[in-house]
Amino acid sequence: MMDDILYSTRDLTVDYATRSGDVHAVDQVSLDIRRGEILGLVGESGCGKSTLGKALMRMIRPPGRISGGELWFDGRNLMTLSEKEMQHVRGGEIGMVFQDPMTSLNPVQRVIDHLTETIRTHEPKVSDAAARARAEELVEKLGIRRERLDDYPHQLSGGMRQRVMISLALALRAKLVIADEPTTSLDVIVEAKFLDLLRELRDEFDLTILMITHNIGVVAEVADRVAVMYAGKMAEVGDVYGVFRDPKHPYTQGLLQSVPNIDLDEHELYKMEGSPPNLLNPPSGCPFHPRCPQAMDVCAVEVPVFHEVVPGQSTACWLYELEATRD
Ligand code: SF4
Repeated sequence: MMDDILYSTRDLTVDYATRSGDVHAVDQVSLDIRRGEILGLVGESGCGKSTLGKALMRMIRPPGRISGGELWFDGRNLMTLSEKEMQHVRGGEIGMVFQDPMTSLNPVQRVIDHLTETIRTHEPKVSDAAARARAEELVEKLGIRRERLDDYPHQLSGGMRQRVMISLALALRAKLVIADEPTTSLDVIVEAKFLDLLRELRDEFDLTILMITHNIGVVAEVADRVAVMYAGKMAEVGDVYGVFRDPKHPYTQGLLQSVPNIDLDEHELYKMEGSPPNLLNPPSGCPFHPRCPQAMDVCAVEVPVFHEVVPGQSTACWLYELEATRD
């Protein structure tokens, strides 16, 4: 079973130092990413999902720091690697696609140069002609005409830039691609095409993809499993089908009920009460208790343990702890 897991975090904690004290942006998160899956990581803004994505690449910069836990990637604990070894992992085994690719593409470098440099990271002796041929093959697979390789990033559309980022990850022969809000800046038609493409690439290149998004509709569209974060903690993880059909955690239930549904009038749309907590001063017990319609006395006092409640679906909620005690 462990061979099925490409990446595993254990009790991962990321803190940010502020004048008023440490903020646990990610709080003891244990998460498995299976080989060949698309895992959707969702939650409201500020819940820690992007910080978790950066932590997986050990890219947390001061005032943030990984203050605890383990990062097991393909059999190695990345926390024990030197920064130089980590650069090799980032440059070769894990690729990242951001919401705005302009932040990671060099604006004065043509697309072809980005790709040939990346190809040479793996094969330093490859000729110019062979590197160009590989780059042409890659971008054409992603629906970009080979002539566009001579363009600069700013000459491409947002959707094309996202595809260039994916082609860089493929040129790296990355085992894992972490995509952080990759479709947020795209219109719905380009978004739908991009999501189709991700699925095709996953199948063709045996990629594993972590898709970080605030949009649960994107997860329904593309992911095999879903992980829901709230206030730096993991609230629920499970197969997309199971979680969407029967969400266990009241926060997941609220998120799903707030998705616009064409069968409902606008006034019937559920709106979750309250807002996410201030992590400088998080609530005691379950961090969702001030907003939870099902909260009980115990919820404000004790933190619920994250555990499997039905096969393939885990959550951290006292409703299920109490059920287990009654059995
Ligand atoms: Fe709601 Fe309590 Fe479950 Fe938290 S532990 S989600 S407050 S029922």
